Amino acid sequence: MLFNLRNTVHIINSKTLARSKNALLCLIKSRYYCSTHETDIVVIGSGPGGYVAAIKAAQMGMKTVSIEKNETLGGTCLNVGCIPSKSLLNNSHYYHMAHSGDLANRGIVCNEVKLDLEKLMGQKNNAVKQLTGGIAQLFKKNKVTHIQGHGTIASNNEVVVLKSDGRNEIVKTKYILIATGSEVTPFPGIEIDEETIVSSTGALSLKQIPEKLCVIGAGVIGLELGSVWSRLGADVTAVEFMETIGGVGIDGEVSKAFQKILSKQGINFKLGTKVTSAKKSGSQIIVSVEDVKSGSQDTIDCDVLLVCIGRKPYTENLGLESVGIVRDDRGRIPVNGSFQTIIPNIYAIGDCIHGPMLAHKAEDEGIICVEGINGAPVHIDYNCVPSVVYTHPEVAWVGKSEESLKQEGVEYKVGKFPFLANSRAKTNNETDGFVKVLADKQTDRILGTHIIGPAAGELINEAVLAMEYGAAAEDVARVCHAHPTCAEALREANVAAYIGKPINF
Ligand SMILES: Cc1cc2nc3c(=O)[nH]c(=O)nc-3n(C[C@H](O)[C@H](O)[C@H](O)COP(=O)(O)OP(=O)(O)OC[C@H]3O[C@@H](n4cnc5c(N)ncnc54)[C@H](O)[C@@H]3O)c2cc1C
Repeated sequence: MLFNLRNTVHIINSKTLARSKNALLCLIKSRYYCSTHETDIVVIGSGPGGYVAAIKAAQMGMKTVSIEKNETLGGTCLNVGCIPSKSLLNNSHYYHMAHSGDLANRGIVCNEVKLDLEKLMGQKNNAVKQLTGGIAQLFKKNKVTHIQGHGTIASNNEVVVLKSDGRNEIVKTKYILIATGSEVTPFPGIEIDEETIVSSTGALSLKQIPEKLCVIGAGVIGLELGSVWSRLGADVTAVEFMETIGGVGIDGEVSKAFQKILSKQGINFKLGTKVTSAKKSGSQIIVSVEDVKSGSQDTIDCDVLLVCIGRKPYTENLGLESVGIVRDDRGRIPVNGSFQTIIPNIYAIGDCIHGPMLAHKAEDEGIICVEGINGAPVHIDYNCVPSVVYTHPEVAWVGKSEESLKQEGVEYKVGKFPFLANSRAKTNNETDGFVKVLADKQTDRILGTHIIGPAAGELINEAVLAMEYGAAAEDVARVCHAHPTCAEALREANVAAYIGKPINF
């Protein structure tokens, strides 16, 4: 076997390897400086799943080591995901309000509105820096040992960390928690250079505003980043294989309303359309597309192409094979209800296992997994994991969509309330959208809540709480809500689901 470490090739014969896996470690040890830690739990990966799990483990009295291969902590979410995208969404919205005349209509006249893209990016980078640095502080405060380097599972109780200076650290541990997250799914035949053909990562740091931006995929990330660059002045076209936008789980009625609103904002949609290839031609990219139904072909030219067709679990070079863990057909690590792999002391959570790829889902799994290791019961209701699209207006939902209830043959009733009739939304001139509550026809129990409108990402948390406690629409309808707030629209939709009609509409 050839083993390449920092340009040095060692030849290890198969007999040596067969004798013991430790032989490999000893060889490394003899050639390179190597230190050893002994701990209760090693968490590989410091995204929202891993860093939260590490803090929880330390708080529960476990000696904890967190291993992260990147220079900064926080994983996809803090470095190239949730946080930078929300910074750009927030500030591009302010720019758009000023530039489009929305602020002027409110009596705030800004003469000569100009965009300083470098500053906008600087603000984003600053938010990322502060938050990733915050995790380092939290690790210190909670006595989590952080080792920077690539972690590989060497045996059931050993993780080897290859550090950037070529040195190794060996961590002997009672438990291993894998939280290695996900990476961008590549589009076959389209090479990402993160300059003009970009993934979500490149789209967070473009150096200039594209004249024409083509987005492959009208899912959550594609719509958020498409919105950012559209607000900043790009002519955006989103190409989507499906007939709807917003990705998996979105209610059909909400998706239609969402598309209408975004189209009005200037985003072009080509739905039911498949991208077949993309070729560079000078400073242009020619994207070839095909209508899924008719097969008719067309091209779209753009100066920046954003490939946004999803993410896949990141479980490469992790040493899974050394302990006999086999990934499923989608590259995910199989786990049971306690997040345990087939090796009883090795666990996995977050984007690298089943379920929606969301930061809050990873966090919750991290906490309850560690609690479970310490003897507590383990339970997560994936039906109560909310989804949010942070466009303007925001879109958020939890539980079942109308389509999925129909498919499951569940009898349901619908309560709807438009933001046009909500006093706060009217006052703020933010009346696009509605709240839709789906409740069981017989029992009135809430089965799903779907919101498109102002602050939907905040409002959805009330619906999640209600569903976690098994609330009926009547329960939410009878709770006093502050006035004037957008949350009153959620209450009214529950009133509508419960008695059939709201008060204010
Ligand atoms: C543009 C974008 C926007 C997003 N917006 C949202 C949002 O608004 N809300 C939301 O809920 N989700 C959002 N997501 C998804 C969210 O980022 C992920 O679901 C979340 O980060 C998953 O957390 P995780 O801990 O499982 O993995 P990750 O955050 O991917 O972290 C895994 C970490 O493990 C490290 N690692 C991997 N292998 C090793 C190894 N062998 N040794 C050491 N370290 C290793 C990686 O370097 C990484 O830091 C967004 C994603 C993107 C790309």
